[in-house]
Amino acid sequence: MATVTNVCFHGVGTPRRDLEPGEADYWIGRDAFLGILDELAGRPGVRISFDDGNASDVEIALPALVERGMTATFFLLAGRLDDAGSVHRDRVRALAAGGMPIGSHGMDHRSWRGLTADESRVELGEARDVLSEVSGTQVVEAALPLGRYDRGVLSELRRRGYDRVYTSDQSDARPDAWLQPRFSVRRHDTAATVHERILRARPFVQRAERRVAQLVKSLR
Ligand SMILES: [Zn+2]
Repeated sequence: MATVTNVCFHGVGTPRRDLEPGEADYWIGRDAFLGILDELAGRPGVRISFDDGNASDVEIALPALVERGMTATFFLLAGRLDDAGSVHRDRVRALAAGGMPIGSHGMDHRSWRGLTADESRVELGEARDVLSEVSGTQVVEAALPLGRYDRGVLSELRRRGYDRVYTSDQSDARPDAWLQPRFSVRRHDTAATVHERILRARPFVQRAERRVAQLVKSLR
């Protein structure tokens, strides 16, 4: 069966806000980013996404994607729009107009596990409404903040009618699956390491182990 490889970026270049603990591991330099994008360009079965709504989404990623004729989904944080170092509200439409689907990464970049009903309404409902409004598109996809989920998170996302949900579970995905694992690009990655670590065919045993990991999370 054909699979797709979902590749996820976070920030590119120099952050212009205080990073969360551990977040620096997911920022990469501009040159490394452009090299990786060239490595991914033209590859069938590769889907690209950006999490967290950093300003580099519009300042660096958007022009680089357009230049290469590529598209990516941008999972924005509704609660950070207009903050220093984050995507501004009036630029979200530019992303959408550039052919980039807009998805939701929630409101405040917190785990969606164990939310109260009110918190869930904000994170899964209001955030999506805000992003639909500012993008002028229907937001139908979500990326799980911090990659965390359990059975309750998934059933709530299904109940709210999300078409597709992205994890950070580091395995290939079935193209039409509702739950889409992704590989995150990390601080020291280059075109070569992305090729080696993400794009090169991985042995069957490793793939099977990762599928089991996803199953365990979705059942707990
Ligand atoms: Zn995130």
